[in-house]
Order: sequence, then structure tokens, then C-alpha cells
Amino acid sequence: MAELSGKTAIVTGSTSGIGLGLATGFAEAAANVVLNGFGDAAEIEGIRQELDQMSSGHVIYNGADMTKPDEIEALVQDTAKEFGSVDILVNNAGVQTVSPVEDFPRDRWDMIIDINMNSAFHTARAAVPHMKKAGWGRIINIASAHGLVASPFKSAYVTAKHGVVGMTKTVALEVAEEGITCNAICPGYVLTPLVEKQIPDTAKARGMTEDEVKRDVLLAAQWTKKFVTVEQLAGVALFLCSDVAENITGVALPVDGGWTAA
Ligand code: NAD
Repeated sequence: MAELSGKTAIVTGSTSGIGLGLATGFAEAAANVVLNGFGDAAEIEGIRQELDQMSSGHVIYNGADMTKPDEIEALVQDTAKEFGSVDILVNNAGVQTVSPVEDFPRDRWDMIIDINMNSAFHTARAAVPHMKKAGWGRIINIASAHGLVASPFKSAYVTAKHGVVGMTKTVALEVAEEGITCNAICPGYVLTPLVEKQIPDTAKARGMTEDEVKRDVLLAAQWTKKFVTVEQLAGVALFLCSDVAENITGVALPVDGGWTAA
């Protein structure tokens, strides 16, 4: 696994769920970490302190809103000023709305495209010059199984995630000779607080037990019948940052229990 002392990683949307798991993995690997995302200020400071103690690097927080290109640009430039480089960029921030296309609220469409897709363009646009200067970089886009296949009622999310996979391939080609790789990780269902919260309501609505909801609804397409864990995703991200992964670029890597193999 990668040892990342002296390297600096930005993880967007890392105050919760997968992003927090990835940030924890980078802190354990001794990187400097820039946390980002929304939430209670005291809780975020608690997370920052915990990760800072874990890492032999430094962990800071930047509250840039991923719908605002100027704030995204500032996140990258402030990171470079603070640590001298931006070595690892993880585009993870994401939101979801489930609705038939004819009822899909326009403002939610725009927000999902902005946060889940456009923000990854704005961060990469700002970070690539720093990576080129250093002659090394890793861009990791947290897409989804929904970057490879569709499900109904998730038009904005599936569109954004497919877009991220396309951008991943394009950027990978552009920076291939610069020591920079750009890959997407495509997780299946991960039991983050966001997903966990839906289980009791779904059980009630469908007259099922919570275990039945997990197996027959959430894990219906996941052949292993196991949720992906944030620790597994952190392990994959650290592998992509390691030297042995220097020839892995432009890949959309499913971590989905076989979902997209079927
Ligand atoms: P989560 O809700 O637990 O975390 C989302 C993070 O994004 C939070 O830190 C939140 O504060 C942040 N965020 C939201 N809007 C933001 C904004 N405007 N600016 C900055 N940060 C913002 O969700 P999660 O389940 O951990 O998902 C993380 C990523 O993984 C998303 O891109 C999601 O699409 C993807 N993903 C999740 C699953 C899953 O099953 N949970 C599966 C596949 C892919």
C-alpha cells in the first residue's frame, strides 16, 4: 500500500461517508489531508483533530461549496499555498434525488450536475498545473456503478456519473506523460449514514424487515450480497496512489460485488 508522507490530498465531500473513509485512509498513510464538505462546525473540527492526530502530516478543513467554481478554485490554490503542492485529488462530493424524469425538479437537476460532475472539472482544471509542475499526481473520481449502468428515476445522478467516467478517460490521456494518472472508482452500495437512514422507512413502506430491505432491495443487484465498505474503497484509492499503479489510468474500476458484470 502507498506510503504518502510529504504528499497532499484533497478529498471533496469528506465530512461524512465514503469521503471521510478515504480521508482517514490518506491520514493513516501519513499524507497531508484537506477535508471538505458540509456539516456541524464542531463535529467537523472533531473529525479534523482526530485525523490530524492519526497522520504524521497535517489535516486541515476547507468548506468550499462544490456548486461554486470560484470557491473550488480557491480550495485548490489555498491547498497549494499551505502545503506547496496538490498531489492527490479525490472528487467525491455527491448528492442524489430520486424522481421520474417528468417530475424531476429543475433546481435538483442543476445541483446534482454541478456537485457530482462539474465540480470534478473545476478541481482538475485547477489542480493539474500543480501536478504537472511536481511531475506526479493522482486524480481519483468517485463515480458509481451508475457511471456504467442506469437505474430508473435517477436521471441526473446517472448522467453526472457517466459524465465523470468520460471526463476521467479524457483527462487521463491528456496528462499521461506527466506522471499523473486519472481514474474513476465505481462503487456499488455502501452502507453510509445516507443509505442507512433509508432502511427503516423502506422497510415500513414495503412491509419488509430491515434485513429483507438490505438483501432484496439494496443488494438486489450486488451478487456478493455484501455492502461495499468505506475501508475497501480507501484501500483501492491507496492502491491507485501507489507506484505499482502508475500504468493504471483512464480506468473506471467497479467495486460493486459483481453488479455491472451481469
Ligand atoms: P454522504 O452524503 O455520506 O457524503 C457526501 C459528502 O458530500 C458530505 O461530506 C457532504 O457534506 C458533501 N457535500 C454535499 N454537497 C456538497 C457541496 N455543495 N459542496 C461540498 N461538499 C458537499 O454520501 P456518500 O454515500 O459518502 O457518497 C459520497 C460519494 O460516493 C458520492 O459522489 C456518491 O455519489 C458516491 N457513491 C455512493 C454510494 C453509496 O452507496 N453510498 C455508491 C456509489 C457512489
